[in-house]
Amino acid sequence: MAEVKTQGAVEAMEVAEASRETEWEKPSFVGDLFLGKLNLDLIHPFPEQPAADKAEADEFLAKLERFLAENVDAEEIDRQGEYDYSLFEGFNKLGAWGMKIPKEYGGLGFSATNYNRAIGLVATWCGSSVAWLSAHQSIGVPQPLKLFGTEEQKRKYLPRFAKGAISAFALTEPGVGSDPAKMQTMATPTPDGKGWLLNGEKLWCTNGLKAEVIVVMAQTPPKVVKGKEKKQISAFILDMDTPGVDIAHRCQFMGLRGIGNVLIKFNNVFIPKENLLWGEGLGLKLALITLNTGRLTIPAGCAAGARRMLEIARDWVNEREQWGAPIGKHEAIASKLAWMASHTLAMEAIVWLTSGLADRGDVDLRLEAAMAKLFNTEVAWQCVDHLVQIRGGRGYETSTSLKARGEKPYPVERIMRDMRINRIFEGTSEIQHLFIAREAVDPHMKRGYKILLPETPTGEKIQAAAKAGAFYATWYPSRYVGWSRFPKHGEFGRLQTHVGYLERQSRHLSRSIFHAMMRYQAKLERKQMVLFRIVDIGTDLFAMAATISYATMLAKQGNQNALELADLFCREARTRVDQTFRTLFDNHDELAYKVVQKMMKGEYEWLEGELVQPVVPTAEQVEEAIRKLA
Ligand SMILES: Cc1cc2nc3c(=O)[nH]c(=O)nc-3n(C[C@H](O)[C@H](O)[C@H](O)COP(=O)(O)OP(=O)(O)OC[C@H]3O[C@@H](n4cnc5c(N)ncnc54)[C@H](O)[C@@H]3O)c2cc1C
Repeated sequence: MAEVKTQGAVEAMEVAEASRETEWEKPSFVGDLFLGKLNLDLIHPFPEQPAADKAEADEFLAKLERFLAENVDAEEIDRQGEYDYSLFEGFNKLGAWGMKIPKEYGGLGFSATNYNRAIGLVATWCGSSVAWLSAHQSIGVPQPLKLFGTEEQKRKYLPRFAKGAISAFALTEPGVGSDPAKMQTMATPTPDGKGWLLNGEKLWCTNGLKAEVIVVMAQTPPKVVKGKEKKQISAFILDMDTPGVDIAHRCQFMGLRGIGNVLIKFNNVFIPKENLLWGEGLGLKLALITLNTGRLTIPAGCAAGARRMLEIARDWVNEREQWGAPIGKHEAIASKLAWMASHTLAMEAIVWLTSGLADRGDVDLRLEAAMAKLFNTEVAWQCVDHLVQIRGGRGYETSTSLKARGEKPYPVERIMRDMRINRIFEGTSEIQHLFIAREAVDPHMKRGYKILLPETPTGEKIQAAAKAGAFYATWYPSRYVGWSRFPKHGEFGRLQTHVGYLERQSRHLSRSIFHAMMRYQAKLERKQMVLFRIVDIGTDLFAMAATISYATMLAKQGNQNALELADLFCREARTRVDQTFRTLFDNHDELAYKVVQKMMKGEYEWLEGELVQPVVPTAEQVEEAIRKLA
């Protein structure tokens, strides 16, 4: 396994660590789960939306639904690869650009639950519209401004955003995707102290095409901390009509074909000093917190998309007859739809649980939000794959073509293209795994890391070992004993055995994390597949807990079917969890890694066989192309 840490890797880790939120002031359900404690009280009874809060958005949602159905032609937007900008004014009249902006600044001041209801509704209709609305207010300027802006900044900008001045979030660069330490865009203080000069470029800035104001992250001069130079990343509010801002390219994608996503270049762009957000050097932390909070929007969109997919699948498995029966009567197809239905319930449970808890504000949701992003995006993608298969050839055909042949124009092919990006943007699935894993091992790292590091002086090691020993002497044995088989969860009815399972497996998981630390010591950080399995188990346990709590609430409201569906989801999740535990340490990770290192050196090139290679332009042709571009 790779053990050599490059300078780049060390720097990337240092920058990420410096921007990590390290304080846990409020309780965390998932944090406790990783320590072997099933703290069900934090998520049960389910945080049902208060009637008054629901009423706040009901009328808006009804109008939004009509507006979408009557005006937004999602198919045409997709076909043209261009948005219908006349819709912006319609959204504006509804107040849709200011859903998350507090009322005192001219917005609708929606709760997280109401905002996610609205985003979900749009997601059942048009992915590009979701991107315009959510890039503007889930991650665009309003979100960090609300969290970190001064009163003066809020008064200046928030009313503009509420009225439809579009905003965007610019972090990514050609060399900076998941690793912001490599950021090249620079903000240099002007000699007169009045502001900054911005130079560099930002890639894939969603909404950048029409944005009036964006939040941009850039390097500012390094600071010397404890004799060592530390990279500083700061965040700025930037008016896009400032001289030197150049939209250099509009990017095109396989899906979300109506978004205005661009490459922006900055050439000596002046930013006044009052446009610095939060403080110098806090830009990456601001970006990460913005993404943590904004992260609930994508899971809401995925769950809503899955609800739409269920509707299509249900219709088709009844209507389509093959081999003498509706295809839903064939077990292979029924099992796919069963998976889609049970996992849609789980996605919904996660969305409304995290939204409800965010509104209540009494728990820390960092890990739950990351798990929501990870689980819902992965599951929604699997749902699309099942749906395409259930629809057979029609799943692969465009809705325009279906319509032209006189069939129901279900846009499954478009949904598939639109859905794929969710596993990539706002933090890829791999990065969510790493983020969650970092927090899962943190309580043990704090106690044991010093002991494991070879460079720690012996005296310090002995001190740390004594302290850790005292803790683990009681903690570790207690992770083997519990009352999970004692019939104490009667209130969950047919789901009670799953609650017992959760209790046992959370202890099992915490022991496994501890064993992983003992086994791999400081090298655990490089054992990504072990860490990812730990995270996958934790995520499934969280999804089970959320689903049990949600279904119990639905049953109390009279929906007994919810318990059956939750039971199905829990059984499916348990099969995965059991399997993942089996392969946690007993696997072929080493061999797979070794094969890829050889592949990277070309030793498996023979496998690529005969391929048509593209024509490679000559040096003169490249020069000519560059001359033309200039
Ligand atoms: C349609 C679209 C819209 C976007 N909108 C915005 C926007 O509005 N604002 C903005 O700033 N950005 C935006 N992005 C950028 C997006 O957030 C990035 O694509 C994403 O963060 C991943 O970066 P990358 O594509 O450079 O992948 P890379 O970071 O190059 O990663 C490539 C692969 O390697 C994996 N990987 C990377 N590091 C590790 C590691 N340490 N361990 C294991 N695996 C790793 C990744 O998970 C991924 O699978 C958008 C992108 C797209 C395509």
